[in-house]
Amino acid sequence: MVEKQHKVSFTSALRVWHLTKNTRSMPWKEISDPYRIWLSEIILQQTRVEQGLSYYHNFISNFPTVKDLADAADERVFKLWEGLGYYSRCRNLMATARYISNELDGQFPSDHQGLLALKGVGPYTAAAIGSFAFNLPLAVLDGNVFRVLARCFGIDTAIDSSKGKTAFRELAEQLLDKDNPALHNQSMMDLGAVVCSPRKPDCPNCPLQGICQANAQEKWDMYPVKQQKIQVKQRFLYYLLLDYKGERLVRERTGKDIWQHLFEFILKETDEPVAPEELMRMDFWDMPASYGGKGLAQLTDEVRHILTHQRIHSRLLLVKVDKKIQVEGYTWKKPDELNQLAFPRLISRFLEIL
Ligand code: SF4
Repeated sequence: MVEKQHKVSFTSALRVWHLTKNTRSMPWKEISDPYRIWLSEIILQQTRVEQGLSYYHNFISNFPTVKDLADAADERVFKLWEGLGYYSRCRNLMATARYISNELDGQFPSDHQGLLALKGVGPYTAAAIGSFAFNLPLAVLDGNVFRVLARCFGIDTAIDSSKGKTAFRELAEQLLDKDNPALHNQSMMDLGAVVCSPRKPDCPNCPLQGICQANAQEKWDMYPVKQQKIQVKQRFLYYLLLDYKGERLVRERTGKDIWQHLFEFILKETDEPVAPEELMRMDFWDMPASYGGKGLAQLTDEVRHILTHQRIHSRLLLVKVDKKIQVEGYTWKKPDELNQLAFPRLISRFLEIL
């Protein structure tokens, strides 16, 4: 339990900083429209603000209301999401927009349980929407807030342990300014983002420096503590892009793997890296040498693509063909049709370098 005096010092220092020094501006701040707040929070899950901003503006200009988003075709929404990654967020976005538009008459739930029941909305997002849109007394707990609390209170319990999660949640709730949860939550998140940053905290300009234990011990780099190392899987994905006068052979990804519902070219996945000479051989792709390739093959350098739990090593072989051969599961698409399809960022990177 935090001492009352400590809580008052913490909360008031934070509020004064927010009102006098916090200049971090974002288009979804200081608004109470739950649709815009929800949209921004879903876009910002696992995405940096700088990257998410243009996506937010694009979504708002294409879909000004939750009904506009609910009524849009899947392909159009996927296309706008292209490059942002973590496509399960996009699928949840569509499901929730349709649920709110069709089942809740376009009205977002205004209570904690109702928000938590939305697909893709966990405790953090529910607290953000609840406090920013409906002024509910819910404390947000994201990576920025964990870091500020761990450092300020010198907590060495791992933030990814169940004990740590409970302790940090209780602490965040105790510190919450229940008269103004929106302002309090925004200040916590902004302080973590612009002052108490992961590698270079600006302690001399921090409103909490007088009560911060990490600052007193000069040990800010010790906090927060994590127990788990993420297991990273190495994957080797090789693509064959057949091009017939601008038309290309593609398929939609299905199944439970990454990039569900996005499009890709002919894929071979291997357990080990494959040498460039091997990739240039047509039998590697299960294609006879006489399949119509004009010998204008172009192989890219290896591109590495990083996902949270996967490191992908990939190359793409482009071959211009003089007839449209059929490959099971793949279809030919004309250039204007290709422009409508959403591809994983890895494939877009290949198309940029070809
Ligand atoms: S004093 Fe430094 S370490 Fe402590 S909360 Fe502020 S920026 Fe973070």
